[in-house]
Amino acid sequence: MNPPRTLLGTSLLIAALAVAGCGQSAQSSDSAGKVPVVASFYPLQFATQQIGGSHVAVTSLTKPGAEPHDVELTPQDVGTVSKARLVVFEKGLQGAVDSAVESQGGDRGLDVAPAAKLDLKLASGTTDPHFWLDPQRYAAVGQAIAARLSSVDPANKAEYEKNAAAFEDRLSALSQEFTTGLATCKRKDIVTSHSAFSYLARRFGMKQIAINGISPEQEPQAAALATVSRYARANGVTTIYAETLVSPAIARTVANESGATLATLDPIEGLTKASAGKDYFEVMRSNLKALRAGQGCS
Ligand SMILES: [Zn+2]
Repeated sequence: MNPPRTLLGTSLLIAALAVAGCGQSAQSSDSAGKVPVVASFYPLQFATQQIGGSHVAVTSLTKPGAEPHDVELTPQDVGTVSKARLVVFEKGLQGAVDSAVESQGGDRGLDVAPAAKLDLKLASGTTDPHFWLDPQRYAAVGQAIAARLSSVDPANKAEYEKNAAAFEDRLSALSQEFTTGLATCKRKDIVTSHSAFSYLARRFGMKQIAINGISPEQEPQAAALATVSRYARANGVTTIYAETLVSPAIARTVANESGATLATLDPIEGLTKASAGKDYFEVMRSNLKALRAGQGCS
């Protein structure tokens, strides 16, 4: 009776393996049948979720609350990139992501920079990446994501296009609120801790004066702090804007030296529990509220 028992044992073993296999796929049932997409940081993650809807499973390479400019990727993150069917990123913003996309097959990468038509430079001379704070540029990037998702997953093309149009409508409404809300401000200078608000400022007729360069972690020189403080005093600036993901120490120094008060303007590079809203739209509306108070808009 030995041989049949062995056979039985073997088939039980196979059955057990099969069950384990099912168990594994059941664990990831959320992403079952969905297009695996990687987004490099929050604004691209949010746009991809809005447009992909229930057909995509989006993973962000920048963890919630992390500052995206200097992101480092773990081998596991690089593995996630290698398994994705689409990687939505912004070339030049996060060097580690650029390298991962390049090494894992660049044809699966969607660089949103061309769609965002980046045409502003930072003081350092590099291209300003913060397009998402201008709702119209963000909508154009949404359209690019929809076009690419449609070619990756043609069966759901109509839905991606519909979602991109809805996203654009919501962004147009937001843009209109900013235009109206900032139409009558007494003060046009926006003094911020890092240089994230140039596209927003230009769209809505304001002027950004940044204490820092591209990265909020970068230490400004004492001379730069003094220059901004002097500018703030000379131009009647009453509010200095700090942000959520980094320490407000630098903005506070300028506020103290210029006699201004401190407020928060969120560059929406990543959301945390401390963010003034649960998604891009909510935080943008709270930014508008902060600007209206700080800039003396009636
Ligand atoms: Zn930034």
